[in-house]
Order: sequence, then C-alpha cells, then structure tokens
Amino acid sequence: MPSNTVEMIEKSLDTLFEDVNFLTEVQDQKRDKAFRAIRSILSTPNHVSKSFLRVTLENDEIVRIPAFRVQHNNILGPYKGGIRFHESVHEDEVINLASLMTLKNALHEVPFGGAKGGVMIDPRKYDVRELNLISRKYVQYFSEILGPDKDIPAPDVGTSEREMDWMMAEYKSIKPGSAYRGSFTGKSVINGGSLGRRVATGKGVYYSFRYLLHDYLKENEDWLTERDNPDAKSILSYKDKNLQVAIQGFGNVGSIVALEAYQCNHLNNKVVAVSDRNVTLYNSDGLDIPSLVKYTESNQGDLPIVDEELKVAGVKATVKGRDELLTLDVDALFLAALEDQINETNMADIKTDIIVEGANAPVNSKADSYLSENGVIIIPDVLANAGGVIVSYFEWLQGRETQFYTEKEVFNKLVEKMGKTFQTVYQQYFSDEYKLRQHCYMQAVLKLSLILYKQGKLY
Ligand code: NAD
Repeated sequence: MPSNTVEMIEKSLDTLFEDVNFLTEVQDQKRDKAFRAIRSILSTPNHVSKSFLRVTLENDEIVRIPAFRVQHNNILGPYKGGIRFHESVHEDEVINLASLMTLKNALHEVPFGGAKGGVMIDPRKYDVRELNLISRKYVQYFSEILGPDKDIPAPDVGTSEREMDWMMAEYKSIKPGSAYRGSFTGKSVINGGSLGRRVATGKGVYYSFRYLLHDYLKENEDWLTERDNPDAKSILSYKDKNLQVAIQGFGNVGSIVALEAYQCNHLNNKVVAVSDRNVTLYNSDGLDIPSLVKYTESNQGDLPIVDEELKVAGVKATVKGRDELLTLDVDALFLAALEDQINETNMADIKTDIIVEGANAPVNSKADSYLSENGVIIIPDVLANAGGVIVSYFEWLQGRETQFYTEKEVFNKLVEKMGKTFQTVYQQYFSDEYKLRQHCYMQAVLKLSLILYKQGKLY
C-alpha cells in the first residue's frame, strides 16, 4: 500500500514499540512478533473489490466503468467510508483513503471500521438518468459486501445525498426486509438522513481550528506559556489577532468552512480568498461568503469567474488563477478540494502559518515534513474532517432506533465528540516534541493495536 498513511502508521508503531508502558503484557521476542503483526494488518486492506459497471448511456452506447470498494479494517465495527465519483479515481488512492478512515474512526472513537469506494467518471459529463443508473449499478455489483452491519457508504467528492438516496433505494429492492435505512448515510432527511449531515464535515473542520485558537488557547494560556514547545509559542501569538483566511475548494466542505469562518464571533476572521476547480477569488477586505454560496447554488456549484458573473453574484473580488490561492500570504489556509495539493512542486512557496486539512491527504508526506520543520502548524485530515463520519454514525443510530434528533441535538453531540478528541490530542501535542499528525496517528494506532491484541489477532 502506498502513501502517507502507511508511513505514519509505521512511525507510530516504532514509537509505541519503544514505550515500555504500552502492551506490557507482551515482552521480548513476542513483542517483536506482535508489532510485526500489527504493522502488516494495519498497512494492508482486508479486501479490495473492483468491477467494471456495464452501463447503457442515453445515446445507447454501452460502456464499462471502473468501480472500487476497498474495505481496510473492521476491528472497530462495520466498514464505513464514502463513495467518490471522479475521473482520477484509482485503486491505490481508494486503498489509502480507506485506511485513513480506519484511523479516523479509531481516533474519534466512532465504532466503525474503514472503507472507501470510487467510480472513475467525471459526473459532469453524464446526465441525471445516467448518474442514477451508475449509482444503482454500483449497488448491484457490490451488494453482497455492503449492508448496515457490514459496510456503510456515504457521499464523497462528486456524490451527495441524491446518490445516497438512489443507492439506498436500490439496496432496499435487492435486499427486501433488511434494515436498509442503515445501509447508506448522508441521505436526504426525508429518506432517513440526519439533520445537519450535509454541513457536518465543514463545521467540524472549522471547529478544529477554532477550538485550537480560541477554546483551547483561552483555557490553557498559562500552561501553554510555560511550554518549551515552539508550536505552543506560535499558537499563543494568535491570541486576539486579526486573521486572514483562504479556503481551497468551495463544495460540500469548503463552502461550509467559509461560512463558518465568515460568521464566527470567537475569532477575528476575514475570508480573503476562496477557490474552486476554475478560479481563485480574492478581496483583502474580506469576501461576501453568503452571496457566493447563494451564487454557487444556482450555478452547478461553480464560483463566478468573470466580472459579469461577479456582478450577478453581487460580490467584489479580484479574479486570480486557480492555484494562486495556495501561495497567498495568509494566516490560515484551509484545504478542502482534493489530495496532493501541496507537494514538492509548491511547498517552498507556501506562506501561511497554519494549514487545516478539510480534504483527505491534501499535503503529501514530503511537503508535510518540510512545512512542519519550517514551523507551519498542520491540523491533519484525520483530526479535522471527521465531522461527516461522526454525524453519519448518528444517522446510522437514528435509522436503527427510528428516532430522530433535532439539528441542535446533532450539532451539540458533534461538538461534544470532536471537542473531547481535540482536548486529548492538543494536550499531548503541546506536551512533547511530536507534530500534531503523529499524535493523532499514535492515538489511533494505539487503540487499534490494543483491540487487535485483546481480540487475539496477534497470534
Ligand atoms: P465537492 O465535490 O463537494 O467539492 C470539491 C470542491 O473542490 C469543488 O468546489 C471543486 O470545484 C473544487 N476543486 C476541485 N479541484 C480543485 C482544484 N484543483 N483547486 C481548487 N479547487 C478544486 O467535495 P467535498 O465533499 O467538499 O469534498 C472535498 C474534500 O473533502 C475531499 O477530499 C473529500 O474526500 C473530503 N471529505 C469530504 C467529506 C464530506 O462529508 N463531504 C468528509 C470527509 C472528507
């Protein structure tokens, strides 16, 4: 398996191996063997399923579309992870994203395992009837491995509640009498979805940032002042500062992060730049985010590009090249588009002090080390973007109980759950020399290793 994720799992295991207080029951040669077992279990997926969906297009042409479902690990519960519709989907990427889900659920104490799905299409090139067919075919091809107690998909890039509704309906007709409501999450509310699910990831991403720079900082100011840790000093320098914020991606996640930042009255934020697949919009006085959200809702999700469109949106902004956003001199950069956005080619040009990973794996491992060594604080994907899976868990529970929470209850539960993880992780982070991503991985790997041991999987 490629990637950051495996590298980070291995690093975490090396540290845990040296920790005499961890797995004290397993010593000497047995310890070596047990750790090798954990390493190989966590660095490989349990199952990789691949199919070519046979689809008849509107013009009667028959095509075969590559589709994947990767089930990484289910030691904590049924597999869980989104389905992505994107032209660049490939097997290694799906495997990496599935393993990240295992770690994310372990870190946030969500009783699910990790999985991910992908269909290699550009959804913009298909009409609604074709997308409906592709969604239903996906369920037909993978129905035996999916299900409310086996593997529960959710939306990801290029999919939304519409596709989840279609997929759940297909699952229901293939498996009559099953507890079908729990088979997919991220559905529309009328179909058993949870209030608040659509905005949960973006809200959680912003909350990871606000928690660090406001809630945690305020509560721990004296303690942080006594730390030798350079990141603690850096965080303290943000107290009551006016913050310039830029957000890459203006979809499900990015647009909500932008709204949260725009509305936040705990921090003095100004959202000076947002971008999408076409363009960066910049205004040093701050962008009118509600107007941009309204515009994208009636423009297939795309931001205005030319002056005419900006006028229609009622927004004042300078139009810049799509990738220019990444190298702006801002205080915080939220990455909410795709993976590998900051890498060897642009890492030396990054000027922000804080990066928040709304997308999965948007900073590659070389750039991660480089930026961290240069004092950039990175709030990693595994910590920041779990809001979606947490509310998916609430949706799954509500579907089982057929009892539904109010939106306020959902957000309170979300904030309580994420806040608990932030509290633990931020406290450890400022107590020693490891970076935030490594702390998150160590916490997740520790939990998974203990459960593997307790369930007798290391023999
Ligand atoms: P989306 O399809 O709704 O939005 C993606 C946005 O990124 C769009 O605005 C698109 O125009 C933009 N984009 C695409 N390529 C770009 C580029 N090169 N530069 C700038 N912008 C670009 O997807 P989403 O659901 O918002 O997901 C975004 C990321 O967050 C993905 O990495 C996804 O895996 C991750 N994520 C999503 C959820 C969720 O609940 N939706 C949960 C966890 C993680």
